Amino acid sequence: MKKILVTGGAGFLGSHLCDKLLAEGNEVICLDNLYTGQKKNIYHNHDNPRFEFIRHDIVEPIRLEVDQIYNLACPASPVHYQSNPIGTTKTCVHGSINMLGLAKRAGARILQASTSEVYGDPEVHPQREDYQGNVNPVGIRSCYDEGKRCAETLFFDYHRQHDLEIKVMRIFNTYGPRMHPQDGRVVSNFIVQALSGKDITIFGDGSQTRSFCYVDDLLDGMIKLMNSPKDFQGPVNIGNPGEFTIKELAEKVVELTGSKSNIIYQDLPSDDPTRRRPDISLAKEKLNWQPSIKLNEGLEKTISFFKIEL
Ligand code: NAD
Ligand code: UDP
Repeated sequence: MKKILVTGGAGFLGSHLCDKLLAEGNEVICLDNLYTGQKKNIYHNHDNPRFEFIRHDIVEPIRLEVDQIYNLACPASPVHYQSNPIGTTKTCVHGSINMLGLAKRAGARILQASTSEVYGDPEVHPQREDYQGNVNPVGIRSCYDEGKRCAETLFFDYHRQHDLEIKVMRIFNTYGPRMHPQDGRVVSNFIVQALSGKDITIFGDGSQTRSFCYVDDLLDGMIKLMNSPKDFQGPVNIGNPGEFTIKELAEKVVELTGSKSNIIYQDLPSDDPTRRRPDISLAKEKLNWQPSIKLNEGLEKTISFFKIEL
């Protein structure tokens, strides 16, 4: 049994991660400032003696004794990370420094939830970990993209300078139950719109692509990475290489929900990446990991969740 800190543990990915780590028999401290997370994502663990919730902002230091840290705290949806962009950069940079400092003092291993956004609008396709990206440093997505890039730098500098045990995971678009209905990301938006009979809003002409990974697959990769040999730090892509246009996603959601909603087109936000697909060779080789849940199956599970939620 390990004592494990999950920052961002009341969010979409973090709350599922807490559940998985508890099911493995660990002690879990869930730390979250509830900026985009929700208490109801973790209520079911309330009476578990191995679970503890701390309301705290990682931009402020905290002293805890733990064996492992999963650093997931950060708003992930463009709508939310852009609503307080300075706060987003502080969470990525000051928050990482605080969590790395905690790991150093406690002698803990620490994993960073990084992102495919470090590749920006990629000129190389699919994206391998050695591609250094095409990121606008002064655009509306930069608070998140550059914040996450700087966090990666900090992780590797703590590793080189202090011999800290680090793991850096580049997460590609992940979806599933417990996404907030107002989260603003494309999968939850389309499902919520389809189920409530509202127009389905495609930004741009819908030809931009994303590769969607179901939450359970992603977290298997995350836990494997955390427990991988000490000499493997990453960065490693974790995502599903199945690539779809946003228009194809909208059509799938309409079909699977049987919705009568219309598909409408709105302006494309600036710096919206035109394509994204992970090359997962490194994850296959080093972690023996690959996703198994296809988009239709994952969408059906997510639609079932929202049918109850809405
Ligand atoms: P989410 O918004 O549901 O969860 C983020 C959680 O972090 C929320 O509970 C929020 O309240 C908390 N939080 C934000 N700022 C905080 C702070 N300063 N201190 C403490 N808590 C804070 O998003 P998610 O999809 O679960 O994403 C989790 C992590 O994974 C994020 O770091 C995100 O950047 C990364 N990621 C996710 C995806 C994805 O597709 N889901 C893709 C790439 C990277
Ligand atoms: N998108 C869309 N309609 C929406 C929400 C998003 O067409 O209601 C598009 C968005 O412009 C982007 C893609 O879907 O091209 C994925 O957006 P999301 O916010 O989910 O994630 P990210 O852009 O960070 O990959």
